[in-house]
Amino acid sequence: MRESVLSLSNVSLANFCTYHIGGKARSLKIVYDSAALVDVLTEDSVVVGCGSKLLISDSGYDGTIVLVRFSGVKISENGVYAYAGTPLPALSRFCSKHSLGGLEWACGIPGSVGGAVKLNAGAFGMSMDSVVERVDVLQKGKVASLKANELDYSYRHSGIEGIVLGAQFKCQAVDAEQLELRCKSYVKLRRESQPRGFSCGSIFKNSDKPAGWYIEQAGLKGLKCGGAIISKEHANFIINLGDASSRDVYTLIRTAKAEVKSKFDVTLNEEVIYLGDF
Ligand SMILES: Cc1cc2nc3c(=O)[nH]c(=O)nc-3n(C[C@H](O)[C@H](O)[C@H](O)COP(=O)(O)OP(=O)(O)OC[C@H]3O[C@@H](n4cnc5c(N)ncnc54)[C@H](O)[C@@H]3O)c2cc1C
Repeated sequence: MRESVLSLSNVSLANFCTYHIGGKARSLKIVYDSAALVDVLTEDSVVVGCGSKLLISDSGYDGTIVLVRFSGVKISENGVYAYAGTPLPALSRFCSKHSLGGLEWACGIPGSVGGAVKLNAGAFGMSMDSVVERVDVLQKGKVASLKANELDYSYRHSGIEGIVLGAQFKCQAVDAEQLELRCKSYVKLRRESQPRGFSCGSIFKNSDKPAGWYIEQAGLKGLKCGGAIISKEHANFIINLGDASSRDVYTLIRTAKAEVKSKFDVTLNEEVIYLGDF
């Protein structure tokens, strides 16, 4: 039987994020059973799901990274319950297979349920706040069940404190074939509108206009720094061409912020989350 926690030390975090960049963590705990979480948490621990919203410092993290890998989806009253480590595409596929509508927009997002619920991930006009009914969290060593109206959701933000253990989603009965078609069309739209390559999705939050519009109008599409580039296809994506450092990506972020501020007097706010020292 698999251990409930795998402990590693001095391990490269580039293997655990979609940017494929980042230095080492002093300690890494891969947690397969939520009951084991309390034993691995330390003062300096940071929880990570799929690492798809992170830019991890080249110097890594001098503390404990807790990787959430407890996963699974089950049908429950009014919808489904998913454990925090479940990848969103798996959640979406499960729902389609069981003729449960409401989460098909999430099928192409490479994050975990825990990260998505915490960040209020969204796409195509939908977001977690419209489907989440209840979130179970570990707060100060105790499990709490938070109802939707206690989550303080806004655009790409929640007020959730602690570690998300799992969430209850409300769904509607929809024909499985129709859901499958919706998922396929969302994946196609994504392929057509988003660049390929290592990234964390959108770097900045949108404001009155899409952040990418400002960056494009500032003439920054295609700007390179070391091994990183502001995508020519979608200016709100910065791509690691293969050998970028975090510093390269960070420099492009700073440049985009400064140029947009000076040209439009608009402050772009990061959606990307920094981990470690910058
Ligand atoms: C190609 C690409 C496309 C993307 N498209 C979209 C999109 O359309 N819409 C969108 O919203 N996002 C998108 N993203 C960003 C990302 O996938 C989402 O924000 C996702 O929800 C992050 O989940 P994660 O598990 O990867 O979180 P991580 O990156 O691992 O962590 C992000 C934050 O959440 C916290 N966190 C993670 N797990 C937990 C937990 N269990 N409990 C408490 N806190 C936790 C972390 O501490 C960190 O602060 C995209 C990313 C990529 C690379």
